[in-house]
Amino acid sequence: MIKQVDLIITPRWIFSAIDSVVLEKTSIVVDNGNILELIPNEIIEQKYAAKASFNLADHLLLPGLINAHTHAAMSLFKGYADDLTLQSWLMDRIWPAEKKYVDEKFVTEGSKLAIAEMIQSGITTFNDMYFYPQQTAEVAVKIGMRANLGMVLLEFPTNYASDPDDYLTKGLAFRDLFREEGLISTSLAPHAPYSVSDESFLKINTYAQELDLKIHVHLHETRTEIEDSLKQYGLTPIQRLDALGVLGPHISAAHCVHLTNTDLDILAKNNMCVIYNPTSNLKLGSGIANIKGMIERDICIAIGTDGSASNNRLDILNELNIALLINKGVNHQADFMNPAQLIKMATLNGAKSIGMEGRLGSLEKGKCADLIAVNMSSLEMKPIYDPLSSLLYSGNRSMVSHVWIGGNMQMKERALINIDVDELLNGLGAWQQKISQI
Ligand SMILES: [Zn+2]
Repeated sequence: MIKQVDLIITPRWIFSAIDSVVLEKTSIVVDNGNILELIPNEIIEQKYAAKASFNLADHLLLPGLINAHTHAAMSLFKGYADDLTLQSWLMDRIWPAEKKYVDEKFVTEGSKLAIAEMIQSGITTFNDMYFYPQQTAEVAVKIGMRANLGMVLLEFPTNYASDPDDYLTKGLAFRDLFREEGLISTSLAPHAPYSVSDESFLKINTYAQELDLKIHVHLHETRTEIEDSLKQYGLTPIQRLDALGVLGPHISAAHCVHLTNTDLDILAKNNMCVIYNPTSNLKLGSGIANIKGMIERDICIAIGTDGSASNNRLDILNELNIALLINKGVNHQADFMNPAQLIKMATLNGAKSIGMEGRLGSLEKGKCADLIAVNMSSLEMKPIYDPLSSLLYSGNRSMVSHVWIGGNMQMKERALINIDVDELLNGLGAWQQKISQI
């Protein structure tokens, strides 16, 4: 008997991210937002009839990319504070600007801009850390974007909250509001060891255990952060958190640029996930993470863009290209890392970093139908001997043609389905004018 299903996509190639194989002559069957199966083209008509079907003869189909570390609303600060050190960037520009402008409306508008850019870049889930997460969640749900949103905590007051307890109370209230929403998951998000006290880390860790939540934190981003910690505690930030007893597989740490072998061993021993943000680390002059040391220790590495104020593009494909090239260069080793490995970091490992590997990150039966198609037909992509190599070395995000999230189409032939781009652009002019007057 032929089964009626919602969607069948028949691309030229499929990369499932389960192994390193690129499939051909295979279609993907989607029903009720989930992947039903990957099936050889020759038998599909015997089994299924679809309400919608796409024959994408020049396309590579992949799991949606996961941006494992970002601050979506900061898109409104894109290009506002370039070419500064992290300390000066944060203290002289970003924190004063946030004090002046960040409120519910800022976060709503900034998140919408970020989500539009991310969908056009083939990103179907983002892991966020910012103020007013409820506003980001509302925008994401309205559009149909998937997000893991942090309950942010800093030791000092901001427009959003007055003290650590206030941050936590607001974060937990936000979590309660969105607990039934399938597109939204949450984590605890202490900003960084230099901005969060031991007492707050211990409290957050208790909540993480009780509520079975991940902790998303900035860690070892700059040399200064480590030098200050050594002066204050006699320990690196990683060693300090290890001594506190708060590390474990529930921690996903953004950056981890400067690590001693002891620090690397602590990450490995605790089965922590590192979120690698190569462009942000380069642009802020923070340094180059020791990815080889992490891979040698089998540490899970996911990929993030960081916020638009320290990267200027929410573009995971670009991060993968940079990551490949830098790591070959610094290790003087051309066969170090390959495109399949990098795409897995940006899909399956991204899902692990937010505790969603059972639902996201690869194309297999039962997982959410978060899918992207890349049009490989343009001349700069030809000839194509290995589509994954072509994608990461010759391709770019403007070739992402179609995006589905939970089986719902979000972009068709580069046109966003649920976002009015003209309206979005019209609203941005006023923000640009306001922010440039600071
Ligand atoms: Zn960050």
